[in-house]
Amino acid sequence: MSKYDYDMITIGAGSGGVRAARLAGGYGARSAIVEAERVGGTCVLRGCIPKKLLIYGAHYADHFEDAKNYGWILDPQHDWPTLVDNKNTELDRLSGIYTKILSNNDVDAHEGRGVLADEHTVEVGENTITSEHILIAVGGWPSMPDIPGIEHAISSNEALELPSLPKRMVIVGGGYIAVEFAGIFAGLGVEVINILRADTVLRGFDEDIRLSLDKEMNNRGINIVSNTMVHSIADEGAEFNLRLENGESLKTDLIMYATGRYPNTANLGLENIGVQLTENGSIKVDEWNRTTVPNIYAVGDVTDRIQLTPVAIQEGTAVSETLFNNNPIQVDYGDVPTAVFSNPPIGTVGLTEVEAREKFDRVDIYDSRFKPLLHTLSGRDENTYMKMIVDANTNRVIGVHMLGMDAPEIIQGIAIAIKAGATKAHFDGTTGIHPSAAEEFVTMRSRRKTQR
Ligand code: FAD
Ligand code: NDP
Repeated sequence: MSKYDYDMITIGAGSGGVRAARLAGGYGARSAIVEAERVGGTCVLRGCIPKKLLIYGAHYADHFEDAKNYGWILDPQHDWPTLVDNKNTELDRLSGIYTKILSNNDVDAHEGRGVLADEHTVEVGENTITSEHILIAVGGWPSMPDIPGIEHAISSNEALELPSLPKRMVIVGGGYIAVEFAGIFAGLGVEVINILRADTVLRGFDEDIRLSLDKEMNNRGINIVSNTMVHSIADEGAEFNLRLENGESLKTDLIMYATGRYPNTANLGLENIGVQLTENGSIKVDEWNRTTVPNIYAVGDVTDRIQLTPVAIQEGTAVSETLFNNNPIQVDYGDVPTAVFSNPPIGTVGLTEVEAREKFDRVDIYDSRFKPLLHTLSGRDENTYMKMIVDANTNRVIGVHMLGMDAPEIIQGIAIAIKAGATKAHFDGTTGIHPSAAEEFVTMRSRRKTQR
């Protein structure tokens, strides 16, 4: 018998932690999980799922509007508290399912905040538990800059729980969360201003996609104020007054910051036991998810890798497969597809055009912009944009990007082809599905430009 209570204690029951703990339990290891709040973590309770439910809710505004030219006569109204209540009921159900999955796999659940006392010991309130291995999967939390009046701003956490919708709202930041929430609230009739310090949204994404989304957001009435930051926020009773660094000021009813997230590593006891952190406070890990203390592992947003649920799940899987199933796995971070659930949404896999030109000698670009069939009748002024980047020397497709209806669903399938090393000839030799937007990816024939 081991001298410890468990083979693995996982701290944090979010995407990465639940997967690792339940696999460990399923493989017969003595597995425990420690959760400070509710089982499910960010994705289930404060991220992917509630956000997407609100996005579905907001999309009805488009559907009702688009239905008119299809002959429907409607007079819809929206009740925000109903949407929030129903969303919360679903989150309760999901949290319950995850709790059950853990108990079905013989994982002991410990409620409370876990703190490392030494490299084999975790304190949870009054209780002390010990383990051969410890996995840290504590995720992250919204970060906001320290400016005067920042206490008046909310984060995505509170935006998911607003008691009522404001008339006007400012969203600061130009990343995933900012553009997704701008789409939600604009869809529900809020006058949204999006303030970003870059020249346009989604730094790091393909330039054509960025500019296309910027245009579509503007078309939907979202006022993008770029190249500036908020200097200070003043509470004027009935409204807030924002002073911008470009000298302008504006009034609003609600301010949401979506300016990135910091890893939850403070006061975890890491510094006492030699678990080293990176400059931004995340946990340093090797390719086996091992920290600088060999029996302590870390996965998900608390490490400085890709902050996506499927990645955290893959990392959690890798830890338990390696430790408890004699199946050593390293996560492959190549060609990780991602979606931004903006309105319209984005799906992307592989390199951007800029990245491709840096890495490859000759790059061919194929792209297409068109009005989706739905909108030929609905009259909505919305375009779909698709782009394919090909290594001209090998004909391999190295990047695929799409902005438009169903982009996340379409790109998931394309990502399999990219992972399998598909060439442009494979795409060209594939029969299209007609009429669909996706068929455009197998019918793009004319190169846009070739460099060098
Ligand atoms: P988390 O899911 O954050 O779980 C960490 C858990 O640890 C939490 O339950 C927390 O309470 C607990 N915890 C923290 N400290 C302690 C402690 N000391 N003791 C015990 N428990 C502790 N990703 C996507 O792939 N697709 C999306 O559409 C998407 N949308 C998102 C939308 C929003 C608004 C946000 C904020 C994120 C979104 N993400 C999305 C990112 C995704 O949610 C995260 O990448 C993912 O949840 C990370 O999982 P994790 O296991 O690292 O941590
Ligand atoms: P992001 O890193 O995506 O974006 C942060 C934004 O905030 C950037 O536009 C950044 O600007 C800006 N910013 C940072 N600091 C400041 C500052 N001090 N003042 C003004 N602007 C600032 O973070 P998010 O918070 O949007 O989301 C966190 C992560 O969660 C994402 O990176 C993603 O991995 C994950 N996520 C995934 C989703 C999905 O899969 N659909 C949805 C939501 C979140 P700049 O560009 O200039 O650096």
